[in-house]
Amino acid sequence: MTHSNGICSCGQVHFKTQGRPLFRAICHCTICQRFNDAEYGDILLFRAADVDQAGCGEISYETLRQPPLLARGKCTTCCNPALEKLNMPLFPKLMLVPSARIVEQADLPDPEFHIFYNHRVRDAQDDLPKSSGYLPSQTRFATHLLRGLMHGRG
Ligand SMILES: [Zn+2]
Ligand SMILES: [Zn+2]
Repeated sequence: MTHSNGICSCGQVHFKTQGRPLFRAICHCTICQRFNDAEYGDILLFRAADVDQAGCGEISYETLRQPPLLARGKCTTCCNPALEKLNMPLFPKLMLVPSARIVEQADLPDPEFHIFYNHRVRDAQDDLPKSSGYLPSQTRFATHLLRGLMHGRG
């Protein structure tokens, strides 16, 4: 996965990603369920600098939880989840990309872990690590983020 293209169902939102994502993960939290109108969120994490939004149409961002670390954006036309901006202190600016937006589905890496698993709609049929609750989920996320930043492309 050296680069890929993202597009919403109406085509207004489109972007390109560079390099491998820092990770792919499944989040079962209720906000992801609502935001994605799905049983869970399936996201790729990128450095914001690796997401090229040149010519992209309008995205409407909403912050659904305090503190406002994560702004969740939807296409203003088709309302597909588009991009989520994550600004964590001491980290580079990050971007969550819904895996479903990626055109090159066959190139996607496998998910690495589940978080907020206690909110799952149904059990996952895999052997991936699963974290439940706020602190364990945040810790899992941060651990994989650090690993991705250290071992990702330079
Ligand atoms: Zn979530
Ligand atoms: Zn759209």
